[in-house]
Amino acid sequence: MEHRKPSSSFSFGSKSSSSSASSWKRPQFKCRCGVDSPLCTAWTVENPGRRFFGCGLYTKSMGKVCNFFKWYDEACSEREKKLINALLKKNDLLQNSNNKLVIGIVCLGLIVMFQLIVIVMLMFM
Ligand SMILES: [Zn+2]
Repeated sequence: MEHRKPSSSFSFGSKSSSSSASSWKRPQFKCRCGVDSPLCTAWTVENPGRRFFGCGLYTKSMGKVCNFFKWYDEACSEREKKLINALLKKNDLLQNSNNKLVIGIVCLGLIVMFQLIVIVMLMFM
């Protein structure tokens, strides 16, 4: 989950980032701690990719301070939920097989390097 992603980090072509940031309007909320509530994205099975406003003092290690909570996006349909969850699962599987592939390539590289060292040693013996 990503928190406090600044909206001005997106650049729109030649427009300066300051003008695009001020023209983009979204509702602002303060959580019960009196801090501006950041727009976060939920990645739960029930609400995949649905954005919400949460506690402004939330940190990954400490969690939320108050129980302020407000959805930003409308709830998506059952079909959309299933689709997004299926895509997320697929993405996970791809990432896993990708990791295995990288490990395989590294092992192969080590074997080739070892063989080269042996060949070079034999040549100079
Ligand atoms: Zn709070």
